[in-house]
Amino acid sequence: MAFSRTQTVLERVFAADVPDRADIEYVLRLEDDRQVQVLFEFADRVRREYVGDGVLLRGIIEFSNFCRNTCAYCGLRAANHRLSRYRLTSEEIVAVAENIRLAGVKTIVLQSGEEDNLDADGLARIIEEIKSQLDVAVTLSVGERDREEYAMWKEAGADRYLLKIETSDPALYAELHPGMSFTNRIRCLGDLAELGYQTGSGNLIGLPGQSVESLIDDIVFFKKGDFDMISVSPFIPHAATPLAGVRAGDLQTTLKMIALTRIVSRNAHIPASTAVGSLSGGDARGRALAVGANVVMPNFTPMAFKPLYEIYPGKAGNDKMPDESMVHIERMVAALGRRIDLDKGHSLKSRSVLAPTMIRSQ
Ligand code: SAH
Repeated sequence: MAFSRTQTVLERVFAADVPDRADIEYVLRLEDDRQVQVLFEFADRVRREYVGDGVLLRGIIEFSNFCRNTCAYCGLRAANHRLSRYRLTSEEIVAVAENIRLAGVKTIVLQSGEEDNLDADGLARIIEEIKSQLDVAVTLSVGERDREEYAMWKEAGADRYLLKIETSDPALYAELHPGMSFTNRIRCLGDLAELGYQTGSGNLIGLPGQSVESLIDDIVFFKKGDFDMISVSPFIPHAATPLAGVRAGDLQTTLKMIALTRIVSRNAHIPASTAVGSLSGGDARGRALAVGANVVMPNFTPMAFKPLYEIYPGKAGNDKMPDESMVHIERMVAALGRRIDLDKGHSLKSRSVLAPTMIRSQ
């Protein structure tokens, strides 16, 4: 009985233009292992049908840990005076991008803290250089900026942008992000989509004060936003933040949220994030890949700087050279009966300009 009910609910969630909140809640509250398995297998089938068996790779360069914000969960927060700050030079960034391309990876993700004095022109030059010299896609993840800056980087050749909503619950968002505004976050996501970026959003699981209602809202937000990429990953507490000592997000909830995200978004690119891999409990990244995820992001930040990009402690792979990480990823993917896909892995959405309007009208 329970199996068929779960199956029926999942079919409704999959088919709905806007999934029913009660249906999402039913799925999130599933406890019986066999029923949870029904969810995971459903999500894995949607993944196979809509994005295939290939696991896409994105090489990430964490090029600066300077940050003006004070996000309650993040170790890079401006108030963390114990952290030494670094910024790679343009030459260093381009050299790392070349290494990523030499490793066969065709997406370069440039990520940083939200720099107060970000040299927007300088970043545009870097994008131009990478795009003109290497046959790659470029993804930016540098936080909330002006529309003009987003437009300049798009003009310079950037293809994609990641900006997680973190939580779609405005009250919780306000609590966790002093001095920032939910409205501006939404403005940024709208601008990015309008400017033609393949746009990624996502959330954190297990934030203190995050209710089941908030998680339901996140799923509805992902559905309405029609994002090209969605990252669902667990919150991991950092000692130098106000959330030190809070419990980390739990793996099972994270996996359920990844599965639901796959089911509602169908063909979005969904990473098995490093944060999932950093939770204890075996190779959790492999588990994420088995319940809907189709992307892995090997970290190519130079070894000397990796420990300083400490958004959370114990980041998986910090002690590994990029080559070792690549071998590890290949083994993990092969063990799942899947294959590494070295394509650029552009969005599978047939782009409409509806998305920003839909995001804004929420
Ligand atoms: N400054 C950029 C990039 C931030 S770091 C931006 O604001 O978009 C990228 C992601 O790290 C964030 O979106 C957040 O979801 C994640 N992150 C930060 N602190 C974390 C923590 N303590 N645990 C898990 N993920 C965290």
